[in-house]
This record gives sequence, C-alpha cells and structure tokens, in this order.
Amino acid sequence: MRDLDTLPKAHLHLHFTGSMRISTLEELAEQAGMRLPTSLVDDDPLRVPASERGWFRFQRSYDTARAVVRSEEAMRRIVREAAEDDAAEGSRRLEIQVDPTSYAPFVGGITPALEIVIDEARTASAATGVEVAVIVAASRTRHPLDARTLARLAARHAGDGPGEVIGFGLSNDERRGTTSEFAPAFRIARRAGLVGVPHGGELEGPEHVRDVVTHLKPVRLGHGIRTTEDPDLLARLVDAGITFEVCPASNVSLGVYPEPGDVPLRALLDAGARVALGADDPLLFLSRLSEQYRIAREAHGLDDAALADLARASIRGSLAAESAKRAMLSEVDAWLAGP
Ligand SMILES: [Zn+2]
Repeated sequence: MRDLDTLPKAHLHLHFTGSMRISTLEELAEQAGMRLPTSLVDDDPLRVPASERGWFRFQRSYDTARAVVRSEEAMRRIVREAAEDDAAEGSRRLEIQVDPTSYAPFVGGITPALEIVIDEARTASAATGVEVAVIVAASRTRHPLDARTLARLAARHAGDGPGEVIGFGLSNDERRGTTSEFAPAFRIARRAGLVGVPHGGELEGPEHVRDVVTHLKPVRLGHGIRTTEDPDLLARLVDAGITFEVCPASNVSLGVYPEPGDVPLRALLDAGARVALGADDPLLFLSRLSEQYRIAREAHGLDDAALADLARASIRGSLAAESAKRAMLSEVDAWLAGP
C-alpha cells in the first residue's frame, strides 16, 4: 500500500475559514479576547444530524470561527497555512473558496478582503509549491444582489494561474434562498471566464441538483452526492462532464450518511462520474485531504490504481493550465509505478 500523503492530487473543495488549524483558531481567539466554545477546540469532530437544528449547530460553530478573523495578518495566515497543510498531503493545486463579505469590515471592504486572499495565494504558491487559486463564493443566506456584486468583483481577478480567481460558487445552507435568483450572478461570472462551482445535492436531493444545474450551469458540483438517488439525472450530469466534489467526512459529520462507507462514492464511480475528493471544513470535521482518500481505501475498498484514478480526476477537474495538469498527471503515474 502506497503512502496517500505522497499521492499527487488537486484539492477542489476547501473553505477559507474551515481550513483553519485549531491551534490558529485558538491563537486568533486569544488575540481578539474571545472565548471559544469547548466544542470547537476539543478532539471530537462536529457531528450533527442533517436537520435544520443540526445545520444550525454547524453554522454557529462556523460563525464563531469566522469571528476570530479580524485582520489582514490573520487572513494571510489562513491562506498560507492551508497551502502548507495541503503541501504536506501531496496536493499540487488548491482551489480555495472564500466569501470575502465576512472579513470586509476589518480590512476596508470586500475588494481589499479579496485582494488580500489573492495576494497571499500567490505568495503561498511560490513558497509551498502548491498552486493556490481562488473561488469566490456567494452565500444563499444573502440577497441575490450581493451575489452579483461578488461576481463582478471576482470577474475583475479572473485567470487560471496561482493567485487568480478561477470560479464562482454558492455556499451555505442548501435549503435557504431561491436557486434561480442567483442565476444572474453566475451569468456575470461565466461572461468573465469563471466556471460555476456551486454547492448542491448534499443536504437536499435530486430536485435541488436539477435546480442548481438548470439555473447555475455548473462545471463542478460541491458535493452533488445525492444525485445518485436519481440514476437518470446522474447519467445526464456524467454526460455533461460535471465534476463531483465529494467530501465524505463532511457528509458523515453533517449526518447525510451514518458512516463513511455509506457515502455513495462507488455509485458515482460506477456511473462514470468524475469525482474529486475534498475536505470541505477540516476545522470542524477534523479530517483533512489525505483522510478522504483513506476513507476511499478503507471504507470503499479502492485499491491504489483506483485511488490514483481519483487523484487524476481531481487534477482533470481542476482549473489548472493544461501544461500544469500534464505535469501533475505524470507525477501520479510515477506514484503508482513506485514501490
Ligand atoms: Zn463546502
């Protein structure tokens, strides 16, 4: 069995705040004179049922973590550490998702907030060897007009290199907001060459996925796992070449599936779907990138060749330049050819 930390891969589903190390959260809280609930710093991953109440607990933990991030320095640190942690787990490309709105009050607005993330992504790419690109994500809990403002901001920084914005997302509770109302924001993003990478089909089922696909025209789906409940829809998304960003630890923590082995990873792969494993919010789920591959190995019985295929799918599903993808793919070949 080969070492999963050395398997070259791309990380396509990681949230800025949720990427934070617990030690960093504690330090930033201390600096801000804030007390953290013990549930955020103990050794137990957040586990909540997929009910409104369950999500509420997740959201409250998330909001608490977000509230400690109150300076440019803190923001830079989070990006840098996310890149360092990814580097230690064999990631060659990180596409980190951020909603700059939450940090705007501390750094002078959403524009500087995004520029800080972008600038640090560039610096961290050079320092760690992990290409760090940025996804700007709007929130379902805010007005669709806010999403348009974010899309216009994202559009100004579009590109495919390190430190550039490659995609536009939509996150937060899938049960909130009306999906179709976010279509104009995604249209603005697409016109600027950004790909749509909204969340969909984790807490909600195929109906929601259908809505997201129809109105937001995603190239990748955040989660999308519950598409497996409708084989016809799944076949349609596979034909359309949509990549599924599957985050098994997140699904189990949020109560979508009882155990890692219940996540329908096999069903997706058997249907021919392109699956990219991601950690989502390691701060809350206490499970980072390599662990998702470990789950695929241990709970789903994938051998090293199949795990290498997953890594290749993550690279192909990334928005890296074609030349960079080719280099990463040959590194996967080398990993599989190795001892
Ligand atoms: Zn997510």
